[in-house]
Amino acid sequence: MRIDCLEPKFPAPNESIMRALLLSDIHANLEALQAVLAAIPSYDAVWNLGDVVGYGASPNEVVEQVRALGNVHIRGNHDKACGGLSDVADFNPMARHAVQWTRAALTPESTEWLRAMAPGPVLPIGPAVSCVHGSPLNEDQYMTDMRDAWQPLLQSRTRVTFFGHTHLQGCFAANGDGWFEPNPVFLTRDETESCELRLIRDARYLINPGSVGQPRDQDWRAACAIFDDAAHTVRFYRVPYDVRQAQQRILSAGLPEKLATRLKEGR
Ligand code: ZN
Repeated sequence: MRIDCLEPKFPAPNESIMRALLLSDIHANLEALQAVLAAIPSYDAVWNLGDVVGYGASPNEVVEQVRALGNVHIRGNHDKACGGLSDVADFNPMARHAVQWTRAALTPESTEWLRAMAPGPVLPIGPAVSCVHGSPLNEDQYMTDMRDAWQPLLQSRTRVTFFGHTHLQGCFAANGDGWFEPNPVFLTRDETESCELRLIRDARYLINPGSVGQPRDQDWRAACAIFDDAAHTVRFYRVPYDVRQAQQRILSAGLPEKLATRLKEGR
């Protein structure tokens, strides 16, 4: 029997997972991560879509907590840069400053773990779904609108693909020749809220759970999602957290002030 060692290569498929907690773009924000983990009722697995570090002031604490949550960890561009796998030429001055600060702050153990993160796509439960950081075609590609998303949507190896990178919670979907963007709608800006998307069986989806640690959709609350494999639903969450404490840590670390102020602005 021929064994195809290219797919899926990491980790071993686990067919028994029913509810997966999707985390992305935590960006060393410990307060946001802890609030999300406390607010989500239950899950069987955690799928981490990358950018664990960069921008925030708690890189080692966040690495330590995240690595204990499971074995699906997709590397992001900030994980690569902070781990020394890529240079900072493509980063803007503020992001570059944060990468350099993070490199100096990381313990050798944290650095080693970041360097070992998997490039996407990873298929955690067989052929149904995949996890990537940017796009299924290019781990560093931003998919911010349907124009960016259309080809990846059609060409992804799986019908449902979870992605991050843009820090924008939402979906791109295609059903036959038609396309739609079933995005979550929330009523407040200061309470824990959730919103369920029922997936259509034959449609294709690119789904972004949003950013835990640095949302950029004008909603400061930490974002995440639960994928229920059996019910075929995705529930999007927004969770308030101690943003003042996260901001204070950034300022005390000597990181750019803008990295603190943008957290409450959600951009
Ligand atoms: Zn990011």
